[in-house]
Amino acid sequence: MIKADFHTHTTYCDGKNTPREMVERAWGLGFTDFGLSGHADFSFCDPGFGMSDEALRQYRQELLLLREEYRGRMNLYIGIELDCLGPIQKAEYAIGSTHCVERDGEVIAVDDTARKLEDGVMRLWKGDWYAFVRDYYELEAQVYDRTGCDWVGHFDLLTKFNEGCRYFDETCDDYLEPALTAMRKLNEQGMPFEINTGAMSRGYRSDPYPSRILLRELCQMGGRILISSDSHSVDAIGHGFAQAERLAWECGFRSVLCLRPEGGFREIPL
Ligand SMILES: [Zn+2]
Ligand SMILES: [Zn+2]
Repeated sequence: MIKADFHTHTTYCDGKNTPREMVERAWGLGFTDFGLSGHADFSFCDPGFGMSDEALRQYRQELLLLREEYRGRMNLYIGIELDCLGPIQKAEYAIGSTHCVERDGEVIAVDDTARKLEDGVMRLWKGDWYAFVRDYYELEAQVYDRTGCDWVGHFDLLTKFNEGCRYFDETCDDYLEPALTAMRKLNEQGMPFEINTGAMSRGYRSDPYPSRILLRELCQMGGRILISSDSHSVDAIGHGFAQAERLAWECGFRSVLCLRPEGGFREIPL
């Protein structure tokens, strides 16, 4: 199993465990490379969590000490998860994510609760789920331009509550066309994509992001991937990685990326 995970959260944002608890568990599980990626300031959207500049400074200090403690045992990386609509704050690496969409001056989160998402689509898109999908992917396509991120987090997060295609059909052209347009652009910009198991560990989905169809297309485009848990607690670190690796293999990928302490990526064969 891949022993590297770079998308994780702590009590500095909406995670349940401290950085020390997360790092200790990763080490206990035999991870060789581990990154924390606290949410950047999220006060522009409800629910407002994420790190103020002051919290980010403390987070960095705490993680630098932990890195020294674990030197020679496990490589520790200090990251941040930026949002397409949020402020740019600096860390050693940045995941670029699209959690929200803006319409008529209102910002709604696509991953907060199913009820809030339904209400939002009814009000702001008059119940037209495919119009909502188009707006989401139009914004997602700009995630690198807006954030300068190192890779794309949970590309199709808008499907979090769509298990069994409850709201929209993820196999039809009305869905796939805007999704693939965004994917193609980001891939041409050199962006790797995450296979993210976060919604599996929290019981919303039976498969990781992105969907199998999108992953196959990404492989055809010559895309690159990482595997991430998006864990918000110690129990979720590395959750579903065996399934994610199998999915990646079945979609044609033969390696995944891993950060290197000296910067950039190395490839781990699947
Ligand atoms: Zn996220
Ligand atoms: Zn996250």
